[in-house]
This record gives sequence, structure tokens and C-alpha cells, in this order.
Amino acid sequence: MKREKGLLIVLSGPSGVGKGTVCGALREHDTDIKYSVSATTRSPRAGEVDGVNYFFKTKEEFERMIREGEMLEHAHYVSNYYGTPRAYVEEMIDMGYDVILEIEVQGALQVKETFPEGVFIFLMPPSLNELRSRIEGRGTETEDLINSRMTVAKEEIDLMDKYDYVVENDEVELAVERIKSIVTAENCRKDRL
Ligand code: 5GP
Repeated sequence: MKREKGLLIVLSGPSGVGKGTVCGALREHDTDIKYSVSATTRSPRAGEVDGVNYFFKTKEEFERMIREGEMLEHAHYVSNYYGTPRAYVEEMIDMGYDVILEIEVQGALQVKETFPEGVFIFLMPPSLNELRSRIEGRGTETEDLINSRMTVAKEEIDLMDKYDYVVENDEVELAVERIKSIVTAENCRKDRL
């Protein structure tokens, strides 16, 4: 039984919780889900490729995209813009594919306004200490930026109630199994048929 439209799945949660790792692992399990590539004004980290990890934009280009309605959502996060280009997501959903967005909380709440039928999943760190060591372990941020990310993380965790599901990321494979179960259940909901 194939639905006409795909699901919009929003995977959100604090920076460093492992959204990228979980999405990467999910990708290996489920090749039917489509992954939206975000745009950002932050500089590429070592190994990041334009068009694969992000579309890297200047502030001017990004602001033009916002003005011209090309963003499904966007947020200003720790001094940079991040946003989801609308065209790819809408096209895939209209073709019947499930699409996953890996975004921070402000953006997720914007998507909830425009796509209330989306599936909103909050990825939860086992603890704040664990979150800090994961961000530190990445070795990509200065101490100041780590502190900013931790401040935002606490605010983000306070917004957990706005989501449909909370998935703890204690172990990547367990988190992936939980997300797959959620997607399967959502696809079987009779009000979505
Ligand atoms: P990072 O700089 O670590 O790649 O990402 C910082 C934060 O921005 C993460 O929480 C990440 O999930 C989030 N993010 C990435 N892409 C988007 C997007 O398109 N929209 C929003 N709102 N947040 C995003």
C-alpha cells in the first residue's frame, strides 16, 4: 500500500547529540528515505563537501534565498544561518518518498507550523555531561563555541515537549532501530492512508 505523499520526518535535538551519526547509520539501513541537504553560512569543516554535507553559502546568498521564499525553514544558530531548501523536500514528498530533515530546534518548530502532519523526533543525549564530551571529542570547536553550544542545548532540551517522539541516543544502533520503528508505525497510521 503506497501513499501518494511521503512523510516529512524531522530529526532534531541539541548540537553534538549525534543527529548526523544517527542519520548516517539510518541511511545504511533504509535506502528509501531521502535526506535533505541544508544550506549554511558556516565555513566547511575539514572533509566536508559542498552539496553533500551542506550547500555552503555567503550571508548575502543565504539572505536572498530567504527573501525569495526558497527556504522551508531557517534559523540563526551560534552566529551562522542554517536552512532547508524547500524545492527538494517538496518534490520528494510529492513523489511519495519519506524525507528526513536533520535540523536544530528553532527550525523544527517552524516546520511544525507549516507541516503539522510531519513526524517530529527529538534525539536526546544520555546526559548533559555526555553531550559536552561528545562536542569536545569532535575537536572542531573552540572552548567559547562549545560553551555557546551547551547554552543553546539546555534551551533546546526544554522544548522537548513540542515533539511527537523522544529517542535517547545512548547507542547509535539502538537509536536507529527506534527511529525505524517510529517511521514504520507512522506509515501504518490509518489517518495517513
Ligand atoms: P553544525 O554546525 O554542527 O553542522 O550544525 C549546527 C546545528 O545546526 C546542528 O544542530 C544541526 O542539526 C543544525 N542544522 C543543520 N542544518 C540545518 C537546517 O537546515 N536548518 C536548521 N534549522 N538547523 C540545521
